[in-house]
Amino acid sequence: MRCPFCGQSDDAVMDSRPIDSAGVIRRRRLCKSCQKRFTTYERLEEMPLMVVKSDDRREPYDRAKLREGVLRACEKRPISIDTIDQLVDAVEYDLKDYVMEIPSRVIGEKALKKLHDIDQVAYVRFASVYRNFSDIDSFLAEIRNLKARRTRSKNPEDRASALAGK
Ligand SMILES: [Zn+2]
Repeated sequence: MRCPFCGQSDDAVMDSRPIDSAGVIRRRRLCKSCQKRFTTYERLEEMPLMVVKSDDRREPYDRAKLREGVLRACEKRPISIDTIDQLVDAVEYDLKDYVMEIPSRVIGEKALKKLHDIDQVAYVRFASVYRNFSDIDSFLAEIRNLKARRTRSKNPEDRASALAGK
């Protein structure tokens, strides 16, 4: 299990809770590299998290699909595969609060938020797909937003902590 704080995958399980009615097993883990504690929520295969699409259709959550979308947004940008996988891990970690269903929009926004701290071009590309910019005006509005936010906070955030959602 990859540590959401330092990204290492060397941890010890301290405590496991019995499976609950939603089919979720909770485990308290201790990262051996940074000594931080985190909780993982593991789902039984038979009870996948369902993603609710904007037209109300549902499909099982698919990590490959999210990763594919992020990869596409990051194409030809100076972003390593490892960074992308960490981003996907961090998004999945945030999904722990959702047990049965999650709106696809929520997943998209979580990924966007993390991309924002990594690469502005990838961020805008991803936003154009997920927010479904229907016209050039909403696209330009997002670019303006981005520029405004950039000038407001000039201090470079630590990427690792950005990925961990801190
Ligand atoms: Zn750690």
